[in-house]
Amino acid sequence: MAEKDYYQILGVPRNASQEEIKKAYRKLAMQYHPDRNPGNKEAEEKFKEITEAYEILSDPEKRRMYDQYGSAAFGQQGGFGAGGFDFEDIFGGGGFEDIFASFFGGGGRRSRRSSANRGGDIRADLTLDMRDILEEKTLKIKVRRKETCEVCHGTGSRSGNQSTTCPTCGGTGAVRVAQGFFSISTTCPQCHGTGRVISDPCSVCRGEGAIEKESVISVRVPAGIDDGMKLRVAGEGDIGRNGGPRGDLYVVIHVRNTTDFRREGADLYGKVYISFPRAVFGGVVEVDTLVGKKKISIPAGVQSGHMIRLRHEGLPDIRTGERGDLYFEVIVKIPKNPSFREKEILREYARVIGEEV
Ligand SMILES: [Zn+2]
Ligand SMILES: [Zn+2]
Repeated sequence: MAEKDYYQILGVPRNASQEEIKKAYRKLAMQYHPDRNPGNKEAEEKFKEITEAYEILSDPEKRRMYDQYGSAAFGQQGGFGAGGFDFEDIFGGGGFEDIFASFFGGGGRRSRRSSANRGGDIRADLTLDMRDILEEKTLKIKVRRKETCEVCHGTGSRSGNQSTTCPTCGGTGAVRVAQGFFSISTTCPQCHGTGRVISDPCSVCRGEGAIEKESVISVRVPAGIDDGMKLRVAGEGDIGRNGGPRGDLYVVIHVRNTTDFRREGADLYGKVYISFPRAVFGGVVEVDTLVGKKKISIPAGVQSGHMIRLRHEGLPDIRTGERGDLYFEVIVKIPKNPSFREKEILREYARVIGEEV
């Protein structure tokens, strides 16, 4: 590999400040970005070259090595194979970042943006009683999620050193493995495709830079939530890496039904058992609702199976907040073990309606 002058590539003097180097790279990267020069091989090569130069010169340790030994010190790197600096840092996380994302997502060279990674999503379960969902509530739940390791301050390194290019794959994140007459490209086993390794991993987090901890999170639970629904709490998942955003928290809702009612959306269905005379003469009976006992009127001559509706005594509709209805199915109780006197009266009744019993 020919000796490369990284300073010349970026067009900066040898004593350029980090700020000057960053500015120069940013300007050139905008100019030669492959998305702005589709199909232009020359621009692509140039882009790789300036990226490589920036990767070396923006890292004080690598720059010192380069100043001392030249690019031979980084001989095995194929230019673009170098990774590990933070594009968001350079471009302020603006629209240009998306172009990078699509570019890096393209060629199967994954994790090139290994620096700033979004944290993982986490899941928690929350069990509520049906009576708890009549109003919106803010509940505290305990979750286990990854937080920055305080021992290594998230670097993953015992000494606080930055990660270095993976020696196994030279930073490409992939290695070639012989398979008979062929060789196939596979994810690097040492760096798991990130292209970076930590030479002296932190003993607490084993180099991950994050450890699992218990946190208490407030979750707003809308009224009328249903069993099995998931609430997404944005930005309450695992911590991101190197300034990347947190993942999300998904709360899976379980609604425990401790009532005798069957739920259908916002409506509830129950049963009211009445005696034969009550069915004939009608009258007032007491029923259980979600919020205590209520009196309902039974019309005279009611039949088994008749539905009585209590308006707005059901559950809130999760979208509108409006309460559904509570329905009672009337069931006329038939005496199972009538007394002698009851039988006497019922025989008399049968005689009156002309029925043989
Ligand atoms: Zn640590
Ligand atoms: Zn590797």
